[in-house]
Amino acid sequence: MNFKALFKTTLLTTIVLVGLSQAALQARRPRLTLAVTAPGMPAAIAPNPNLLLGNPSQATAIDRNNLLVARPQYVLSYNADRGIPNWTSWQLNASWLGNLPRRLFMPDTTLGAGIPVVTQNDYNGSGFDRGHMVPAADRNRTPEDSQSVFLMSNILPQAPDNNQGPWEKLESYSRDLVRQGKELYIIAGGTGDGGIGKNGPATTIARGKVAVPKMTWKVIVVLDGPSATPAITSKTRVIAVSMPNEQGIKDMPWQNYRVSVDAIEAITGYDLLSTVPKRTQTALEKRVDSL
Ligand code: MN
Ligand code: MN
Repeated sequence: MNFKALFKTTLLTTIVLVGLSQAALQARRPRLTLAVTAPGMPAAIAPNPNLLLGNPSQATAIDRNNLLVARPQYVLSYNADRGIPNWTSWQLNASWLGNLPRRLFMPDTTLGAGIPVVTQNDYNGSGFDRGHMVPAADRNRTPEDSQSVFLMSNILPQAPDNNQGPWEKLESYSRDLVRQGKELYIIAGGTGDGGIGKNGPATTIARGKVAVPKMTWKVIVVLDGPSATPAITSKTRVIAVSMPNEQGIKDMPWQNYRVSVDAIEAITGYDLLSTVPKRTQTALEKRVDSL
């Protein structure tokens, strides 16, 4: 066999092997096909496991400031005037975790006509981090998963001390829970106007194109483990936090920012956990996690 033929054979074998291992990875990931429905939730996206907890703002495919973006990796509501997501929602279990390297940030050009495209450069020199809502390390098993969370529609201007401090610690803690076997359903976003970044206070960056939220918030429902029929009861652990989007909090523990889900519903105006039966929802939402 000459060198050229050997090279061809090796390349072909590599492609086949990569293809096979991708297929194996896909096959290992349990795909929930729940019939989750809630008022206003389009039937077509109901089986998306990332939207198990419901559509907090009744986002739709045609409302530019409450635009429903449903991907296999997450679901979010995008706000065109603010240039950031209103909320993002995703499932987290061990099947999503891998170790692919971080990707380059990319503009999201899928949002539709008339929606300004935020680019990675819009954050340059702003004093705010490109803050992932769905974290990079929650979606790093396949190149497609990785790239999806580096789209700028999943990003908002986060004060470095928030992003790299208690916010990151809670993200790591979430993955610790997953490594212990848990399955999480998470909703996160930013709310209010104006944060304090490395260059001081700002209500917008990129000459008004991108809004800086005042707070970042997150709700995490902790289930015992992956299940085809996830059951949320009044005993289910729910972690809710609301953190100021400010410098100076880097060394604070994430636990300092625990609040009730009710408190987050009050500041955002959303109905969180809307697919959970009302009695259970009421019980879960008034509690503050203390574990
Ligand atoms: Mn981050
Ligand atoms: Mn609710």
